[in-house]
Amino acid sequence: MVSHWAPSTHHGIDAVRRNRLLRALPKLEANLATELLQGVELRYGQTLQEAGEPLRYVYFPADALLSATIAMDDGSSVEYGSIGSDGVFGSRFMASLRAPGRTLCQVAGEAFRVRPGVLFEHLDQMPVLHERMYRYSQYLYITTAQLVACNCLHTVTQRCARWLLSTRDALGREEFELTQEFLATMLGVRRASVTGAIGHLVRCGAIKYRRGCVTITRSRSLERAACECYHVLVENRRLVIAS
Ligand SMILES: [Zn+2]
Repeated sequence: MVSHWAPSTHHGIDAVRRNRLLRALPKLEANLATELLQGVELRYGQTLQEAGEPLRYVYFPADALLSATIAMDDGSSVEYGSIGSDGVFGSRFMASLRAPGRTLCQVAGEAFRVRPGVLFEHLDQMPVLHERMYRYSQYLYITTAQLVACNCLHTVTQRCARWLLSTRDALGREEFELTQEFLATMLGVRRASVTGAIGHLVRCGAIKYRRGCVTITRSRSLERAACECYHVLVENRRLVIAS
């Protein structure tokens, strides 16, 4: 369910530029985007789109972080993509399809949203935004392909380290809230496996973990523990989004 919205108290042009994709827009496009977008506070764990639903809103995160997941009949699930302040959830080419899985808020914060019909109606007037959204769809596609391989071929500890580094990069900070249960859901593994992986990363000095909060204390150690996929994802982001 999409509910409990708390409209933001500020959603001027400076506010929407907290999303890096919107920050790249020329002034005329930024002004139009500001008129169309509504600021909202997203809660941790809040579902933004259920599997099988049409796209209700397009979201541009400011400091919130979103997770796209696929759920199975037995209740297990796995993340196939995350969307932070350099991206957007929702695209024109996916808008006519039912969602393949659930998208939820992984880290609470602010985002800007707009009804897809309203945005796409104006997209021809916003060629830079159109291009940026297209590129971001490409980035999500190649990220998903990488994660399919990662989830099949790499250990839970490697994937855990990769996930922590990617989340750190998306948020721009070393410390963030995280429960082992949530991480198990994102990685599609049992909680006991995540407990073992977290324990290993704590013992090698890469992270500190207190109940519900992880701090990356030695980035190099965490990168050594991660699989190659982390650097592939960083390079993909640099080539597709930042270029
Ligand atoms: Zn991997």
